[in-house]
Amino acid sequence: MAGNSTNLIHGADHIVRVKDVVPPINISTTYRYDSDPSKLIKVADKGGYEILNNYWYSRLSHPNSEQIEQAVSKVTGGYVVAYSSGLSAFYALMTHYNPKVLAIGEGYHGIHGIADIFTRNQGLKQIKLDEDFSQLNKGDIVHLETPVNPEGITFDIKYYADKAHERGAYLSVDATFAPPPLSDPFKFGADIILHSATKFFGGHSDLLAGFLITKSQEIRDALLYDRLLLGTNIANLESSLLIRGIRTLDLRVRKQSDSATKIVDYLSKNKSKIPGLVEIYHGSLQTDAYIKDQMPNGHSPVFSIKVESENFAKYLPSKLQYFYHATSLGGVESLIEWRALSDPKAHPGLLRVSIGVEDYEDLLEDLLQAFSATQLEVASLN
Ligand SMILES: *Cc1c(COP(=O)(O)O)cnc(C)c1O
Repeated sequence: MAGNSTNLIHGADHIVRVKDVVPPINISTTYRYDSDPSKLIKVADKGGYEILNNYWYSRLSHPNSEQIEQAVSKVTGGYVVAYSSGLSAFYALMTHYNPKVLAIGEGYHGIHGIADIFTRNQGLKQIKLDEDFSQLNKGDIVHLETPVNPEGITFDIKYYADKAHERGAYLSVDATFAPPPLSDPFKFGADIILHSATKFFGGHSDLLAGFLITKSQEIRDALLYDRLLLGTNIANLESSLLIRGIRTLDLRVRKQSDSATKIVDYLSKNKSKIPGLVEIYHGSLQTDAYIKDQMPNGHSPVFSIKVESENFAKYLPSKLQYFYHATSLGGVESLIEWRALSDPKAHPGLLRVSIGVEDYEDLLEDLLQAFSATQLEVASLN
């Protein structure tokens, strides 16, 4: 089988309808029916909508969304359904499985926000990942984010898959922080995988998108039908940006992961000499046995640092030249975020860092000078 980069560039060649090297952007929302009347069949006689490979109305599907789904399915080993955002993908997951109980750990605050909507409207019961799983029954969901936002720490997928399956529940894994080639949650028992494609798959901080990935064609078809009704298919223009983005996914992510790990290594080895630095969180610093199996090609390009005070965290981003102070992650440009600005539960001294594709020596040097400059400024505030 072809490798990741080959598949991300050529994985949809067979469905591109023209000879253009770059698939055209299809902005049409609607498509002409067959001009041969003898081929027209009433939808009532068909037994359902044919959503894929049957362009009709772009809320069902359109050429660019299918090209993405085809290419990404080849590097993730499952059927891919694309959505307008990572959160609309999670909403679709919850709508499809409709659990009575959701076991959910730490992680992206918006995912928790959706779980809270289900609790508000339908009485969904939420428990933590370390609570008693005997509260879960057949068809319930265990939702694991790994590596977890914002720290970039890796959790043991197999452990939670086994615990979920013992109860007849499903394991969903949000693997946004470790896209291919970094992790393959299916290998460790995940039933469904979620990605915010806004992050690494897009890779250029210029589009919103999400994926659900399933091994079951039946679930894929059900998700497509729900997506048609929820109106959450990825948009046409965003799809074409994403087609461009995924072509370099493997190159970008390997470099970003390598640079992040080198920077984390330097910071952790020199922690006591770096002014203001208290703690660094990243999968590369974990020693658990499962880490090597689960992250064979490197760790997440995202890590977090804790600094000595709220003011230190607030001022440090302003001292950096090569890191934009912004939320989000996964793009070619490095970002840092004083996490308390966007995450109500974040520790006030926590900064999340997403390493881009710049030269890591420049990034490291920039970070080191920023720690020193921040120390001077914060001292002068007191
Ligand atoms: C960003 C993010 C999401 C939400 O994705 P959107 O595309 O912003 O809707 C979900 N999970 C994780 C881990 C994320 O980082």
